[in-house]
Amino acid sequence: MVILGAGPAGLVLGNLLLRAGIDCVVLERAGRADLRQRHRAGFLAPGTVRILAHNGLDEGLRRYGREHGVCEFRTEEGRFRLDYRQLGSGEPHTVYPQAELVDDLLAQFFDAGGRIECDTEAVAVTDADGPTPSVTVRRSDGRPGRWRARFVAACDGRHGAGRRSLPAHAVRRHHRDHGVSWLGLLAQAPPSLDAVGYALHPRGFAGHMARSADITRYYLQCPRGTRPDAWDDDRIWAELELRMRADEFGPLRRGAVLQRTVVDFESDVLEPLRHGSLFLVGDAAALLSPSAAKGANLAVLEAATLARALTDRLVHGDPEGLDQYSERCLEHIWRAQEFSHWMIRLLHEDPDADGDPAFQQGMRRARIAALRTSAAQQDWFAENYVGV
Ligand code: FAD
Repeated sequence: MVILGAGPAGLVLGNLLLRAGIDCVVLERAGRADLRQRHRAGFLAPGTVRILAHNGLDEGLRRYGREHGVCEFRTEEGRFRLDYRQLGSGEPHTVYPQAELVDDLLAQFFDAGGRIECDTEAVAVTDADGPTPSVTVRRSDGRPGRWRARFVAACDGRHGAGRRSLPAHAVRRHHRDHGVSWLGLLAQAPPSLDAVGYALHPRGFAGHMARSADITRYYLQCPRGTRPDAWDDDRIWAELELRMRADEFGPLRRGAVLQRTVVDFESDVLEPLRHGSLFLVGDAAALLSPSAAKGANLAVLEAATLARALTDRLVHGDPEGLDQYSERCLEHIWRAQEFSHWMIRLLHEDPDADGDPAFQQGMRRARIAALRTSAAQQDWFAENYVGV
């Protein structure tokens, strides 16, 4: 079994296959040190935590992860909080940075005798519809290579070789550009509030998400085409304080901005998630905007689903799980896409809408009012917010 990519999807899959006694190798483009530097996700859904716990992959998470269950919305009408642990399915998120999770999964993979070929970029997957697919690679020193395997799992993200190698007739790509961009910031600063903060302001959206005791993620909606380094620290903090209405609701705890990334809100889904012996997992299967924090959670769920199906096939000779892999995962992916899309429309005006901008503003205010006042809407939100 060859796995492309050592992100959350590839490493969960690799760990579960090794536990089932299935031989696998992970091919990873980045160097080993770089793998530990990916500060992206942080909010793990209860289902993700259960998968990791059930498979003994949760030691760091149990020790250092923190339960989180409140969001705060700030608008021109004031602010309100939703304690989503008390609503819907009654479950919290666990805050645990993706870089720590990847670090834990790497350590467990190596402890179990796993093999990762770092600095090795997969170039193409060939013969996926035959009995022995192969992966051509290029190492960082320029040396080419080739791996053969019974199955290949593409866990190499949206720009990876897995997607690139799919013949046009075999898989359809459904795509949407939401026309919204966020400047994602990682600040060397303690959280400023004990909740996820969503601030809606005439100048655009601002968001606050705790990561650890001294690291906080912030987001600022920015015009499409903004360069990550276009705003200096002073401008970033001034804009965050303005949009989060710090003068009304309390100051932000400032610190050095460690990382700036611009995220253009695009979503896509590939259908089906299988071509012969090649399976798509995580961001390679579907890309979600980060508005609802679903991407890493889906990656773990899909990896666990594929690991179970491969175990059934390779250990017990039962192909049913592999045959149903695509359909099962797509059901979760479309649910997550739908909720992420709903969150985008809650937090932004629709850039595609024509006509009177005041109409869009009225619609957005009505969505927030429904969330503030309707118990049924709050339960629906809570269930979807922590679910995948
Ligand atoms: P990746 O993490 O992208 O891993 C893919 C791996 O494949 C990488 O290591 C890459 O180096 C490697 N690779 C790529 N191409 C090749 C190749 N050709 N050959 C070999 N290796 C290759 N999700 C959440 O659930 N919660 C959140 O709070 C959240 N916050 C986010 C915040 C931001 C700013 C961003 C950008 C994303 C966020 N996400 C969040 C999404 C989440 O980070 C991704 O969905 C998740 O990383 C997907 O995991 P993956 O393993 O599929 O892909």
